[in-house]
Amino acid sequence: MNEPAPPTPPLADEDGALGGVHIKYLHHCPRQLWLYSRGYRPEQRSALVAFGEAVDESTYTRRRDVDLGEAKIDWVTTGAVVHETKSSRAPSPAHAAQVRHYCLLLERRGVAVRGGTVHYPLIRRTTDVPWDAAARAEAEDTEARAAAVIATQTPPPRLPRAGCRGCSYLDYCWGD
Ligand code: SF4
Repeated sequence: MNEPAPPTPPLADEDGALGGVHIKYLHHCPRQLWLYSRGYRPEQRSALVAFGEAVDESTYTRRRDVDLGEAKIDWVTTGAVVHETKSSRAPSPAHAAQVRHYCLLLERRGVAVRGGTVHYPLIRRTTDVPWDAAARAEAEDTEARAAAVIATQTPPPRLPRAGCRGCSYLDYCWGD
């Protein structure tokens, strides 16, 4: 099948800073990150994304978002511990990577970060994300990998179709 032309015009993402969505997409599919970074937004939102937002909104009604501009952190408690809520039923490396990215962004703003916690309300579980020199190095490496994907002139290859379930770019990539 002929691949559709890349979306135009290529839009810079805000001021070029990387948020949690960039990190999540990098882990799921570099092509998804590339499309997102160019401002491509499918009109039809993925049902999975909508479901995740509904869980997120109904679970912690008293929390306060921390808006860093390029990233919105679910909430930060004294310490500072970064909290992120996921609608998934299984912890994933992408979730921890997203929290580490938030830790990095906060640290760059002078916050003495203590670590992070990912909350999984659907399975009533939490996982801790340590923040130390190794975690910082990992976060910096992830950030560099995301920047490298975004800098490429052509979109990265598609994932095998089975990996695309629930992705909001199905239409662009597969013509569904
Ligand atoms: S549809 Fe598949 S290949 Fe395309 S961006 Fe989504 S996950 Fe990647």
